[in-house]
Amino acid sequence: MTNLQQVDEAAVTAVRRACPDWCNVRHGISDGEEDWVHVSEPLAVADDVEARLCMSVDPNTEAEDGPYVVVGSREYSLTEAERLGASLIELAGRGAGPNHRGAA
Ligand SMILES: [Zn+2]
Repeated sequence: MTNLQQVDEAAVTAVRRACPDWCNVRHGISDGEEDWVHVSEPLAVADDVEARLCMSVDPNTEAEDGPYVVVGSREYSLTEAERLGASLIELAGRGAGPNHRGAA
């Protein structure tokens, strides 16, 4: 006999209560801390690179870690991710500017 397949219903209920509306995880399948992690749908950023929102909430203490934006294996705070997005828009905007052929 093993208890590994038993699910702590109270813990699962607590995890689901803390689940943000952007989360795409079916909770109650993984065990323990793995089930505390909330992850969004992936956003394809580049070849083999996806971005996701990610956070964890401890159902016992309600302590939160995140949310973060995970791009590939790199973790960005929400502010860092917004700056990265703004930098990409600025970069594209420079290319679309009037001096894109290097005229002085
Ligand atoms: Zn969730």
